[in-house]
Amino acid sequence: MAEIQLRNINKRWGSFVGVENFDLTIADEEFLVLLGPSGCGKTTTMRMIAGLEDITEGEIIIDGKVVNDLDPKDRDVAMVFQSYGLYPHMNVYENIRFPLKVRKADPATHDARVRRASAMVELDDFLHRKPAELSGGQRQRVALARAIVREPNVFLMDEPLSNLDAKLRVSTRAQIKNLSHELKVTTVYVTHDQIEAMTLADRVVVMKQGRIQQVGTPTEIYDNPANTFVASFIGSPAMNLMDGTIRGGVFEGANVRIEGLRAADGEVTLGFRAEDADVVDAPAQINAPVYTIELLGDAVMLAVKAGGQMVSVKAHKEYRAGIGDAVSFSVPADICHVFDKATGARIS
Ligand code: ATP
Repeated sequence: MAEIQLRNINKRWGSFVGVENFDLTIADEEFLVLLGPSGCGKTTTMRMIAGLEDITEGEIIIDGKVVNDLDPKDRDVAMVFQSYGLYPHMNVYENIRFPLKVRKADPATHDARVRRASAMVELDDFLHRKPAELSGGQRQRVALARAIVREPNVFLMDEPLSNLDAKLRVSTRAQIKNLSHELKVTTVYVTHDQIEAMTLADRVVVMKQGRIQQVGTPTEIYDNPANTFVASFIGSPAMNLMDGTIRGGVFEGANVRIEGLRAADGEVTLGFRAEDADVVDAPAQINAPVYTIELLGDAVMLAVKAGGQMVSVKAHKEYRAGIGDAVSFSVPADICHVFDKATGARIS
């Protein structure tokens, strides 16, 4: 049982604010992902949970107990980093067993626990090898097994996949998701990769410059981004954003007019996703030249220059057009996201 409460956490170094007013309860067994660009405070937040970084203000409560003054070793959390941190002179078995020795777990249980953890990450056949004799993916799995073997209440993972190639990243990602589900351990996972966040998380926390921008399930964040920052950070390609004015339910931007919007008059940023545009054969609401065309297999992604800016539009997989050809599409008003132009905050 490990609920983690972060109560109005602040971290400052002198006048520099690393994390500001971070307030969140992470449920027992939840897989929570901290997502945001480089320098937004993800690692600092995780290090404060681990006890590796002092907290300037606020309280961290794990399993009902304030842990602010507890040493990392007394917090019952296990960390996995992007640099695996394996001991080169020890073989895989010894590396995995190491935390049990340090924590003086009953030696009679060591062997069974090491074998169970190594089986979970499919390393049974590599127990005698030294880290130098392993691939990157295998090393990462040793690091995972070393966290698993402790049977902690909390896993903290900081970009654990970033040293792996694309294919291994996908398979190890699936393995992490399965493990955390199977072990029922509360997990906090840091990444700047939105696809990783979307595929792993029960809930995602999107951060920018030390502040939480939005907390929600991957679907909530994708479908209802709280502001233009989240809208442009989540999704590939990013949400199309266009500045303009709404008067009487009609949006007018550069060469783009969309009727039937349910938002008050004002200066706005209008957003829509590539897959929400309806590409048609006859001239439509928006007609613009193709800039690039990418065949995705199940669809075609077009970048078009509409109203002086690049817009991504997803078309049917049979759709063919050359660079410079006109593409016609419409954007239904009911799928549009409307943000305040000045603050970026969601209006509707
Ligand atoms: P990345 O994805 O690049 O790892 P991050 O979101 O994990 O980034 P943090 O490592 O948490 O970012 O850093 C947050 C901010 O705090 C950064 O601007 C960083 O430069 C600053 N920072 C981190 N450690 C210190 C420190 N010891 N002293 C001063 N500033 C620091």
